[in-house]
Order: sequence, then C-alpha cells, then structure tokens
Amino acid sequence: MEMIESTNPQKRIRIKPQTGTAFTLKQCQKIRIIDVEGGQVADLFCFAKDEVEEILSSGHTTDYNSKLFLSEGDILYSNQSNPMFSIVADQVGRHFMLYAPCSQEMFEKSYGVTEAHPNCLNNLVTSLKDFGIGASQITVPFNIFMNIKINKQGEITIQPPKSKAGDFIELRAEMDLIVGITACSAGVCNNFEWTPIDVEIYSGDTKV
Ligand SMILES: [Zn+2]
Repeated sequence: MEMIESTNPQKRIRIKPQTGTAFTLKQCQKIRIIDVEGGQVADLFCFAKDEVEEILSSGHTTDYNSKLFLSEGDILYSNQSNPMFSIVADQVGRHFMLYAPCSQEMFEKSYGVTEAHPNCLNNLVTSLKDFGIGASQITVPFNIFMNIKINKQGEITIQPPKSKAGDFIELRAEMDLIVGITACSAGVCNNFEWTPIDVEIYSGDTKV
C-alpha cells in the first residue's frame, strides 16, 4: 500500500493553461506536479542555482538510467553528471525526455501555423527572465506526462497522456535549483485540450 502522509505544502502554484512559472528550490525540497484535469503535459527544465551553466541534461539522464521512460527511483542528471532531481513518486509511469520544448518555430515547421502560438519555450523564457536566463540556455526539458510510442523501426508517435485528473509525479531536489515548468501548449500530446498544472512545494524534512 502506498504510504502518503497528509501534509500541507509550503506553497501551491497553479500554472494556467498554456503558461509557465519559475521558482527556486533548496536541496531536499520536494515538488509534486499534478495534472489537475488529466491528459496534460508539463515541461520542466532546471539549472543549478549557484552556477546556471549547469543544466538539466537529457543525454546524461538517458545514459545513466539506461532507459527512455523514467519513473519512480530514477534520477535526472545535469550536464556535469550531478543528480538534480530524484523521482520519489509517480502515479502515471509514462513520461519522456527527448523533445525540445514546443516553440513558435515548431508550430510553423510541423503544423504550418502562421500566427503567434503560445508555446513552452516562450513560457519558460518569460518565467525564467527574472533569473537572468534566456532561450539559448534552455535545451531538452523533462516532458512530464508526455506519452510517446516507439515502433520497431524506431519511429516515434505522440499519444495523449495516460495521466488522469489529480495524478502526480513527485521530485526531490538533489541540489539547490532554479526550476521552470509549463503547462504545454501543443496539440496532439495534450489531446487538443489545454488545462492547468498544479505544483506543490514541500519542505525537505516532510515526508510526502
Ligand atoms: Zn509544449
């Protein structure tokens, strides 16, 4: 049986549909990322608080975990091979970590969009501006709740998320961090419904 003590978060942030947020975490603090209505992807990217050249690395994380689909017990690594987050709980079990955040260029290239479209890259940049971080410092985020299928030929197709309303993943900070998170604006990966993401922040000494 899953042991979850009922504790109050130190902070709760509602990320409105097709927007983002950013905040700092101390080592050992935990965040719970909740898919409020279900079927919604969230992109998370992070930086070492004391040295923003140290960033989340999809390449290192895939290598050290020897897997494409991360879940409870797995670790997200930096480009300097240091643990940034541990996944301490996961009610969904299907995420991805190879896609760039959706961007204006992606909507134009992949979907022929000609007008300005909300996108995760812009939302991360806007949210992280106060920390002095720009677009060129953001690479591949942890695509939380992103559900993709890979066939035998290695071809990838995007499916709607498996997450149901209220499902969450919980991460523990393994160093002091600057974190940006979005409620993704793309179409297929969110089943063409854009809904909020909640983030709850818990103190390090609290078991959640
Ligand atoms: Zn997105």
